[in-house]
Amino acid sequence: MEDFKPGYLELFQTKELFKRIEILNQALSSCQLCPRRCKVNRLKDEKGICKTGRLAHVSSFGPHFGEEAPLVGTNGSGTIFFTHCNLGCIFCQNYDISHLGEGYPVEDEELAEIMLKLKRMGCHNINFVTPTHMVAQVLRALPMAIEKGLDLPLVYNTGGYDLVSTLELFDGVFDIYMPDFKYSDPEVAKKLSDAPDYPEVAKSALREMHRQTGDLITDEKGIARRGLIIRHLVLPENLAGTEEAMKFIASEISKDSYVNVMDQYHPAYGAKGFPVLNRRVTTQEFNDALNMAKKYGLHRLDGYI
Ligand code: SF4
Repeated sequence: MEDFKPGYLELFQTKELFKRIEILNQALSSCQLCPRRCKVNRLKDEKGICKTGRLAHVSSFGPHFGEEAPLVGTNGSGTIFFTHCNLGCIFCQNYDISHLGEGYPVEDEELAEIMLKLKRMGCHNINFVTPTHMVAQVLRALPMAIEKGLDLPLVYNTGGYDLVSTLELFDGVFDIYMPDFKYSDPEVAKKLSDAPDYPEVAKSALREMHRQTGDLITDEKGIARRGLIIRHLVLPENLAGTEEAMKFIASEISKDSYVNVMDQYHPAYGAKGFPVLNRRVTTQEFNDALNMAKKYGLHRLDGYI
């Protein structure tokens, strides 16, 4: 693993990366990069559901020690939190960033510089948080960072509402995919994220991400190099559809998937208007969720390996 090189370096050398950038940037002129398909001209700063035009908006960046263990290592995951979101869940745990728009616009050169700063801080990876609506900007900035020495794995840390047709353009760019798998039930997805197609979209996205990168592999120190990490936030009253989610991951992705079953749900933003969401998850509910994962043969559970 010592000689590990992220995939994007080869795409840069062969100039394939520039073809992908051109396609993504052109796509901004009538944006259908995600399932919302707003068709706004973001190159002219028109805004769709994600409220993001030509430039990326960054809320904050820095080494993060609260991510999954293989991303954090000893020096932290180099997170870049993007502003706004293409999903807009009513219980968003980062609603000040995603709904209230906390953040500032950055030119591509500044975004490249942020990546390089994170490398200088010793981070093990560059972790783009909520990147779906910022992918053109990320890829536009990438060659500038590569020219100045960026060689860390890139993490695509997404809510999972991603189109396969867009993900195909990232083949070889992101070494690590970290999608949520939020809901199994279209009705719940409609109610909580106004996205009834979420379960089907996310399932297709997970298949494509796994096709590109496979199961998570780590180096001799346990630090992630390549592959898929799946997050599942347990919701009160089993609203997340945990059993179906675990069954899908085990049977259609891989039993060797690295899965983070998360217990940190707390009522935030619009959740207080939904009695069922207006409480934390009980210990019993969380243990039931973990047992579901184990029941279907998932054995790489973050925090329980
Ligand atoms: S990325 Fe934004 S503008 Fe483009 S389709 Fe999705 S929500 Fe709409």
